[in-house]
Amino acid sequence: MSDRTKFHGLCLEAVDGHEMMPVFDDAPRSVQERLRRSPFNICTQCVINLARDNGYDYERAISYFEDAIRASDQEVREKERVNEEV
Ligand SMILES: [Zn+2]
Repeated sequence: MSDRTKFHGLCLEAVDGHEMMPVFDDAPRSVQERLRRSPFNICTQCVINLARDNGYDYERAISYFEDAIRASDQEVREKERVNEEV
């Protein structure tokens, strides 16, 4: 697995990450750099789709995914905490 492959791990379409490699390679340099800085594996195609469908710029689209992942992680932790208390 190449270093770049890990940047394609999270995909709403749940496709294999390698299918998104050409999309990442074709994305604007600023998008590639922003995705590399993200603490999460966010799919390039999903970012592009979200930006296109909602009129977001790419920064906002990536931040949206990061916030959603953090919220989801928080929800999982809350459920685990509740389960441990039962
Ligand atoms: Zn995707």
